[in-house]
Amino acid sequence: MSKSMICSCEDVTADDVRHAVSRGYCDVESVKRYTGFGTGICQGKSCLSAVASLLEKEKALKADAVVPFTPRPPLFPTELSLLASAPVDESLPPIGGVPQEVDAFPQALRPEGPVPAKAKVVIIGGGVMGLALAYNLARSGETDVVVLERGYLCAGASGRNGGGVRMQWGTPALVELAKRSIDVMKGFAREMGINVWLRQGGYLFLARKPEVAKRLERNVALHNRYGVPTRLVTPDAARDIVPGLTMKGCVAASFNPEDGVIFPWPFLWGYAQGCRKKGVRVETYTEVTGFEVSGGQVRKVKTDRGDIACDTVVLASGAWSPQVAKLVGVDLPNEPHRHEILSTEPLKPFLGPLVSVLDSGLYFSQSMRGEIVGGMGDPKEPPGLNMGSTLRFVSRFAHALMEQLPQVGHVKVLRQWAGCYDVTPDNNPILGRTPGLDNLLQMSGFVGHGFMMAPAVAERMAAWMITGESDELFTRFNLRRFAEGALEREDMIIG
Ligand SMILES: Cc1cc2nc3c(=O)[nH]c(=O)nc-3n(C[C@H](O)[C@H](O)[C@H](O)COP(=O)(O)OP(=O)(O)OC[C@H]3O[C@@H](n4cnc5c(N)ncnc54)[C@H](O)[C@@H]3O)c2cc1C
Repeated sequence: MSKSMICSCEDVTADDVRHAVSRGYCDVESVKRYTGFGTGICQGKSCLSAVASLLEKEKALKADAVVPFTPRPPLFPTELSLLASAPVDESLPPIGGVPQEVDAFPQALRPEGPVPAKAKVVIIGGGVMGLALAYNLARSGETDVVVLERGYLCAGASGRNGGGVRMQWGTPALVELAKRSIDVMKGFAREMGINVWLRQGGYLFLARKPEVAKRLERNVALHNRYGVPTRLVTPDAARDIVPGLTMKGCVAASFNPEDGVIFPWPFLWGYAQGCRKKGVRVETYTEVTGFEVSGGQVRKVKTDRGDIACDTVVLASGAWSPQVAKLVGVDLPNEPHRHEILSTEPLKPFLGPLVSVLDSGLYFSQSMRGEIVGGMGDPKEPPGLNMGSTLRFVSRFAHALMEQLPQVGHVKVLRQWAGCYDVTPDNNPILGRTPGLDNLLQMSGFVGHGFMMAPAVAERMAAWMITGESDELFTRFNLRRFAEGALEREDMIIG
């Protein structure tokens, strides 16, 4: 019985599901991610009901909490070449998308019992930022910390991203942060006891327009000054790095062999597990609904499971941060922008680096499981918290990918999804104290690169919070800069 196969696409047994439950991953979305069931060719058509009934039978979930995971298009595995033939009107903005993910999680998933009545630090958002910060606080001795997450771990951008990690940035601050983060990632499996599938195959940036090529050239010099071995490469040399790459329309490229890709989900679970081991409370399916403020301080955080009195509150709610900040009367300049992404069937290893055409925002890499994972920004995408998937995206992406790598036309897309970039006016984060509410700390606005910034930012933020020593990161990227017009522009943005 224990070896009964539940998901034959991904080799998931009944025992694998029980193991996920024993680790605290009891709801269907979390079990899907923890075991991989439903992520293969059948997309859950043959295994979802088996997992649901096992969860109910094992009493891992109340009957009304057993709800199916969000279905992902396409309905059937579909070749990139076919998808590329769907017509796209580039003059119109993308509309809608499926599924329109619900804005509220089922009440039955909410844990029973209240949240703790008091905590020194309350962190709002259980994405990579919130969890990494909580872990670093606990590691430095501050364990009276509660992380509040309205959904499951991985519900936000941290569970929806491309896993790209790179040191190729346009400003010293981001080069240094990314460099430190990649160092942390290299030791993560050892420290946290979880495999995060880091593969340093490099990042190959391609430039079409001369001004973009100039940007690469300028940044190579910056990277080298900070010990990052990026080099400019000719189109021919780029074809040697990625055999089969056409370099169509491209005039230059830059390559850093130390950049790479990571699997985002276990990275979050590693931090969450580390937090819990050290006594931090990570409360999923618990939504922040308001605040109690007096004397220029946040006194209490209100949730749908009761209030928490606190000394410090950290706003780490990603693309939802402006919405949460509004609850306490603070205006943030961040705007959510949908970004779509997809994954194909697995292939034998053939692609070393993550490749990105900087001009168009196309990017693609090969994961350790062998899938091509990639996305592309859409200049017509309007702001808004939309996480639906469109045929327009797969068509634009497939077209742009096949222009650079025509041999993948026969490869089938298995799954597409979307998440929101948390975009600030200068493409840099918002960190540090909130003017007028001193104990409300900001930790948002990481656009499309928060995953690779989180380990380093969280380390520095925990040290800054605990020691009280000044750190220029929290003045450089303070919310105040938008009112003062002291923007810190970053121009190595994909999409
Ligand atoms: C398609 C896509 C591709 C990307 N690719 C990359 C990449 O290759 N490399 C990279 O470094 N970055 C990438 N990013 C960006 C990266 O994913 C984000 O910058 C990062 O995950 C942000 O982490 P976060 O913790 O700030 O936000 P999130 O992960 O979004 O976490 C915020 C959490 O707050 C919770 N929340 C919201 N409101 C409330 C409330 N009221 N109460 C309680 N909880 C609440 C949400 O449910 C959410 O889980 C990509 C993003 C997308 C969408």
